[in-house]
Amino acid sequence: MKHGDREIDVLIDADALKQRVAEMGEEITRDYQGAPLTALVVLKGSFVFAADLIRAIDLPIKVEFIGLRSYGSRKTTSGVVEITLDTKYPLTDKDVLIIEDIVDTGLTISYLKKNLATRMPASVKLAALLHKPSRTMVDVHIDYVGFTVPNRYVVGYGLDDAGYLRNIPFIGAIR
Ligand code: 5GP
Repeated sequence: MKHGDREIDVLIDADALKQRVAEMGEEITRDYQGAPLTALVVLKGSFVFAADLIRAIDLPIKVEFIGLRSYGSRKTTSGVVEITLDTKYPLTDKDVLIIEDIVDTGLTISYLKKNLATRMPASVKLAALLHKPSRTMVDVHIDYVGFTVPNRYVVGYGLDDAGYLRNIPFIGAIR
């Protein structure tokens, strides 16, 4: 598909996203058995996925945001992660569900999980829309995973290329 001057291959179309996100929401709803949940949305890439996922979860739910930046170029992360925006309320004693767009090397999530542990939450689970296992550097357990993707740079549904393409309604890869 042509987008501006770029050719983007559709990897996961809007219908498949919708269906899988609904299934993930049902699974999360079942697992927490009515307990209140704090969704921790990792900005910026997760905001579209999170907006759909929380509406597929039938539980009392609060939403917090955390901004993380991992240093490095588009294709590599250094493992140095900075918190650019922190949560508004403490996570102490909360059941926290991290909502992440993609687990690539695993460095960002492993940093976040360590950081969260110091805040004494009741529990921490991870929902990631995408997993790119071919790039794993640190193993992180993903409790709810949407799709496994090949080793290509993916965009759309919240994921960007240099800040753009977050608004395309499917997951694609730039050719
Ligand atoms: P990590 O390598 O630490 O697991 O991934 C860190 C972050 O890099 C992700 O949360 C995501 O924001 C970004 N990232 C990793 N792979 C991709 C990709 O294929 N496309 C886009 N747009 N971002 C990615």
